[in-house]
Amino acid sequence: WLEFDLQQSAEGRLVVLHDETLDRTARGRLTECRGAVRERTIEELASCDVGVWFNAEHPERASPAFVGARIPTLDEALARYAPRERLYIEIKNPDEAPGMLDSLLAALGRHRMRTADALRRRLLVQSFSSKALVALHAKAPDLRLVQLLEDPIPADSLDARLAAIARYAVGIGPSRRLVSARLVERAHVAGLVVHPYTVNDSTVMTYLLGLGVDGMFTDRPGLLRRLLSR
Ligand code: CA
Repeated sequence: WLEFDLQQSAEGRLVVLHDETLDRTARGRLTECRGAVRERTIEELASCDVGVWFNAEHPERASPAFVGARIPTLDEALARYAPRERLYIEIKNPDEAPGMLDSLLAALGRHRMRTADALRRRLLVQSFSSKALVALHAKAPDLRLVQLLEDPIPADSLDARLAAIARYAVGIGPSRRLVSARLVERAHVAGLVVHPYTVNDSTVMTYLLGLGVDGMFTDRPGLLRRLLSR
């Protein structure tokens, strides 16, 4: 699965970028390539280089090919990957970006990601915002959603919270620090899959697989694939 995050431009267009601001990964004219993504127009965002920072920060993995990399729009990402990849899309800060959910649904429709086959096998949508996920479920009940979790759920309300999530989502995406045998077991009883984030260490991968997680978010899919094949 290919995992990526969505932010919204000033005019309401969706772009693929992890951070809420441009400061960490965008380089270019300071007036255009700094600050909140949602305050920049699509034209300003398109002017920023998002490869140079990586080469400077990660010399061991640097490549001249990354220079000149641009922030893709959601449409560009879907045009390139929707036909052949399984997509695991995160909506970032949806509560501050009205219209984001409708824009996402429209884009998914344009790129044939709302067909019965795509909905069943090739698309998951995740967010930390339960409010946004509940709203998305109401708009598109056939979309499979995953509730990201960064804070522990108190033990005495675990089953009730998982049951509430199961009313609109098919799974939870807990921070790896929150995952326990009990969480995995209770989530499975509630009918939810468990996909912890972000796991880049083979020892932690092995530990989580032992607890019975159904998948995980990683920057090192090759490492996880090698562990699974053993
Ligand atoms: Ca993400």
